Amino acid sequence: MTADPSKLEQQLAELHYQYMERLKADIPVLVSEVGLLANLSAQSDWRSLMLPLKHKFHTLAGSAGTFGLPHLGTLAKKLELQLKDWMSAESLPDLSEMSSFMAIFQQVQYAHQSGHQMMNLASSKLDLKHDQKALIYVLEDDEDTAQHLTLTLATFGYQIQSFRRIAELDMALKVKLPEALILDISLPDEEQTGLDYIAAFQQTLDESLPVLVLTSHNSFEHHLQAVRIGAQGYFVKPLNTTALEARLQRLLAVRRREAFRVLIVDDDQLLAEHYALVLQGAGLRSELLLDPSQIYEGLSRFRPDVILLDVLMPDCSGPELAQLIRLQDEWLSVPIIYLSSETDGERQLAALVKGGDDFLTKPITDTELVVAVFARAQRARQLADMMTKDSLTGLLQHARVKERLSHELQRSERTGEPLSVVMLDIDQFKKVNDQYGHLIGDQVISSLANLLKQQLRKTDIIGRYGGEEFLLILPDCNQQQALGLIEQLRQSFASLPFSFDYHHFHCTFSAGISQATAKEQTDQVIAKADKALYAAKDAGRNKTHLFQSAEYSSLMACQP
Ligand code: GH3
Ligand code: MG
Ligand code: MG
Repeated sequence: MTADPSKLEQQLAELHYQYMERLKADIPVLVSEVGLLANLSAQSDWRSLMLPLKHKFHTLAGSAGTFGLPHLGTLAKKLELQLKDWMSAESLPDLSEMSSFMAIFQQVQYAHQSGHQMMNLASSKLDLKHDQKALIYVLEDDEDTAQHLTLTLATFGYQIQSFRRIAELDMALKVKLPEALILDISLPDEEQTGLDYIAAFQQTLDESLPVLVLTSHNSFEHHLQAVRIGAQGYFVKPLNTTALEARLQRLLAVRRREAFRVLIVDDDQLLAEHYALVLQGAGLRSELLLDPSQIYEGLSRFRPDVILLDVLMPDCSGPELAQLIRLQDEWLSVPIIYLSSETDGERQLAALVKGGDDFLTKPITDTELVVAVFARAQRARQLADMMTKDSLTGLLQHARVKERLSHELQRSERTGEPLSVVMLDIDQFKKVNDQYGHLIGDQVISSLANLLKQQLRKTDIIGRYGGEEFLLILPDCNQQQALGLIEQLRQSFASLPFSFDYHHFHCTFSAGISQATAKEQTDQVIAKADKALYAAKDAGRNKTHLFQSAEYSSLMACQP
């Protein structure tokens, strides 16, 4: 199953429709059962009246959120808990409790009626483009700092709105919340401090707004005040804008983490589709694999964080498939969860021994499925990141990016889509280290990494190939398109101001591009990009060169 948003939307709408139909039938029953509650007497067996109602609200609480009716779910939960309280109490519910119960139940009926409108709202969220620019508000009364910051962040690809006064910011916040707020807390011209203002504003929000604080004070008291208003970064002037951007990117990465990917292998297509939809409804990405013989192809195309594996399949059993998956180093650490109606503990154990990590027993509720898969995926992603990503930049390590290139070469061979590879190296980087120190050097490296992450597509692959050297893999991109892209990046990077105390300086990079040709091996494509990079360096640096085949022939000729 692909993650085509329009198709997904359609399928979710279909599921939602079915759910609404079910509710349409359930709600009148609830109305009459709740009606009986209103006439309880001490003689009636009121606990046995409440028990089935409690179950029904429990089910409603568990499912409504999944189908885009979170408000309905919350209401149902309240009713369930109230019933539970009553059932464990000694005496009949008192009148005021009963009337608030009825009021909530009224809201349930209302929430159900407006369910269709809510669904429309929920599905419109799916339309948002993944690569949409993050909106950031800046409150800074100092013109120079504000300009510097706006320019830097805009270069990275953020959408910035900059304000000079609290009143202007206040108006904007009431119209639309940004993804983060950068706030100067020393505003001499204002009656209120920035801290007081934002402390009060945070109180009005359900989920607090990430705030980065700018200040000229470096005391413990000021840090403490900042922490108390929920600040997630504290920057003392003179402002190091690239360090601030790095913090911002980390902050947003957590909030906009790429969806977890779940590969579902099951021969029962309907059931598998149901699981896939449930997971997609909870914000995970899922793909079906109905034919176990396609497992390796499916793994390298989809790169799942978790595999959900049926145990009994006709051609190849789940445990056999798990063993097959574990034959390859690359897939050793992906968690495998068996999904089966097998309840025999001995047999479950036997299956786990064969390469699985967990066992879920069918039938499983949608919520249980989502929770189990989500928890596994989260841990697996953390571990995989630690194992495969470079700690300074968060980019793929040398060996991993080469692995990915090999997969992408095969994919491009199969699909006929072009593939370009870029080798990129910071110019005269030794001098940066010598003049400003290793720490600032590290900051330059991580800024370039962040710029690449911000500006390239989600499907592009970025690796830290060496110290100040990066390897980019650009699928579905020919060398001319790659040239346009890298030239833009080169100019952006060159315009980024770095600072060390009160000095500003700039850095540049050189890049070499090669487009893969048929049957080419990883090392050949990289050697071509490298050759082009050195041609760019020879031509004076701060340039992008395409690989020229004549140069390559001479390179090959020079090799022993
Ligand atoms: P060129 O324009 O020819 O690329 O010159 P260059 O000075 O950038 O090239 P060279 O390869 O001679 O020097 C790269 C320097 O990068 C040497 C090394 O000390 C430094 N370096 C490598 N990794 C790191 C790192 O993680 N942090 C810092 N601060 N420096 C690093
Ligand atoms: Mg260099
Ligand atoms: Mg180098």
